[in-house]
Parts: sequence; C-alpha cells; structure tokens
Amino acid sequence: MSATSGRHFLQIPGPSPVPERILHAIARPVIDHRGPEFGRLGREVLAGCQTVFNTTGAVAIYPSSGTGAWEAAIVNTLSPGDTVLVPETGHFASLWRQMAQRWGVETEIIENDWRHAADAAAIEAKLNEDRQHRIKAVMVVHNETSTGVTSNIADIRRAIDRARHPCLLLVDTISSLGSIDVQHDEWRADVTVACSQKGLMLPPGLGLMAISEKALAASKTNRMPRSYWDWSEMLKLSHQGFFPYTPASNLLQGLRESFAMLFEEGLDNVFRRHEMLAAATRSAVRAWGLEINCVDPRAYSPVLTGVIMPAGHNADRFREVVLNEFDMSLGTGLSKVAGKIFRIGHLGSCNELTLMGTLAGVEMGLSLADVPHRASGVAAARDHLINVRKGAARDNILVANI
Ligand SMILES: *Cc1c(COP(=O)(O)O)cnc(C)c1O
Repeated sequence: MSATSGRHFLQIPGPSPVPERILHAIARPVIDHRGPEFGRLGREVLAGCQTVFNTTGAVAIYPSSGTGAWEAAIVNTLSPGDTVLVPETGHFASLWRQMAQRWGVETEIIENDWRHAADAAAIEAKLNEDRQHRIKAVMVVHNETSTGVTSNIADIRRAIDRARHPCLLLVDTISSLGSIDVQHDEWRADVTVACSQKGLMLPPGLGLMAISEKALAASKTNRMPRSYWDWSEMLKLSHQGFFPYTPASNLLQGLRESFAMLFEEGLDNVFRRHEMLAAATRSAVRAWGLEINCVDPRAYSPVLTGVIMPAGHNADRFREVVLNEFDMSLGTGLSKVAGKIFRIGHLGSCNELTLMGTLAGVEMGLSLADVPHRASGVAAARDHLINVRKGAARDNILVANI
C-alpha cells in the first residue's frame, strides 16, 4: 500500500516545500528583463536580499544553485596559490574546500568529528601561528546541513579579530538564510553566500550573496580567471535592478513573494518558529531513545535534526520504508555518514502540524522497519508544542535549547 492521495511530505533539509503563494508568483508571465517592470522587480529583490543578509552593502543574485555562489565567492576574492583555512564541519564544508582546491587554492583543514560546530579557538590558534599571513580567507559553513550543527559566526569573527589577522571571512549561509539570523555586516563577513531552495522556500535556481567592501577591493586585484561570475559585471547595473545577462526572472518573481511572506511574519518570528519546531523534533528523538547527531546543545540546528540510527540498522533502508509507505522524503546521510544517519528537515514553510505529520511518519516508519525505539516521540513533541502554546515556557528561545 503506497500513498497516492494527500501531498508528498518533502522533509529533507532543502529543497524545502514551496508555498502556493510563491508557486503562483513564479507562474506569472515572463517579462522583459530590460524593461521598466523588471527594473522595479530587480531593485525590490536586491533590497530584500540586503534585509535578510542584514547588510547595507553590495548583494548579487546569480541564476545558479548554491554551488555557483560558492564558486563566485572563490573566484572573485582569491588567487591561485593562496591558502584558505577550512573548519571541516561536514560534507558541505568538505565540498567547498575541494572546490577551492580545484581553483588552485591551498586548503588547511581543521578536523572535526561532524558532531560539533566549527571551533573558534582552533581557528584563532591557526591564525596566530600564521605570522606571514599566508592564510587569505577562513571559509566556514554556518549551518552544516549534512550534520544538523550550526556554528557561531560571531564567535569566529571575534577569534579572527583577537588574532589581528587580515584574512577574509567567507560564510556559507546556504541553509540558514531565511531560517536562522544572518548578520553579514555585524559579523564583518566578506562574502556570505546562500541559495533559493532552503529557508527562502523557492525552487532551486538562485544563488545569492552579500559582499563586503573588503571583498570588493580583493576582487579588483586577485588573479583568478572568471567571466560569468565576475562581480564587476554583475554589480554594474544592479543599482537600477538590472543584470548583465538574462536573469532567472520568474524565480525572481517568486523571490519577491518569499520576501513578502518572511517580512509579513517578521524575521524574528520566523527564526523563533524554526527554533520551536527544532526543539519539538529533538524531544521526539529523545523519547524514541535515538541519538541526536549534534552533541553540543549550543550548536543544535534550527533547520534540521540529524538522527543516528541504532547499530545494525541502515538509515537509508528506513528512509525507503517511509517513502514507500507514507510518501515522505527524509534527508539521507551524506558521504562518511551514509546509512548511519537520517535527517529531518523542519525549515521554510513548516508549521506545527506539518511537523507533527512528519514525526508521525518517522515514528510509524521506525515501527514498520523494525527499528527499536522507546516511547512515543509524537506524544513528546505534541506536549512540547502545547507547552510552548500555553506559554508554560515563557521564552521560546530558552525552550529551544532544552
Ligand atoms: C544545499 C547546500 C549546499 C549546496 O547547494 P546547491 O544548491 O545544492 O548547490 C551548500 N552548502 C550548504 C550548507 C547546503 O545546505
């Protein structure tokens, strides 16, 4: 028996489900990307990007996935032979590092067990050792989507400051923008990259970034070949809302709607909702007697929860049961944790009942796949959400770290 009615539950940590309002916006007729209507749209979405990145500086939007935004950050700021420092927090940090290597950049890794956040003290120590300032940038993933661990970028900024090191700070907020507070200016991040299909609730296809003055200055003198990703072309007409080549204009219409939805709810409320749903999910995982992949409560991800499968059980086999029986997609374990963990996405257009349906699907899947689990996680999450509603916990943010 497989589900053919109702809707598919897309509970992977991106792409996230696209709300109807956004789908309708994308379905509007294609417009002239050199015309006045497009100029208004372009200016509006670029201003929206500044709001969500919390910057007054330059922003750019590429027709690309998040990987394209990674590449733009590298080729516009670094030169072949440069060294970058990478806290290897998980699969995505590792992929970004490999990309830098392909561009001839040397990479120095700070090892990580994929269960902890990037270690600011270790970054500070590495920078202190680097008397010649060989390290040109620290490349860090804010929310490591492969593990469900969120790093504290403000701490990393302070570590760089304490070391008085002139390196750039390149931050991947691909799965955090629109779900967790991103503070490009306050962090004094140099390039902060993101994409459309996670917290912004759009289909894949847009790569976004915020760019500091320091990064722009680096782009004037760095020696990396580039064309499509070149900031100078991209930013030339952006004050008028225009792009150097045909932009993904229908996705930009969707992005305008996404920003409208986020601003109507209020970004702080959006972030609190994510923390609440994540905390409810963790209470379910604990009730089941399963292990949360992230071992540091300060680094719990509000976007997704990585769950470790009990020994002798394959996470992908379990995910297959959930998909076949209940038409729900859960996130797979990537590279070194393949088969060992599964990931529950609770980002973007997700509310309490979406989450309760999701957790019910997980719980029924655990039973059908004969994965041993203790009490009802659904009941635990329900109680958690009721308590939040009742205001028993006066501050949702405190509840989030229980
Ligand atoms: C999804 C993701 C990426 C890759 O983005 P694509 O759109 O698949 O290219 C990179 N980093 C993080 C943290 C991600 O979550």
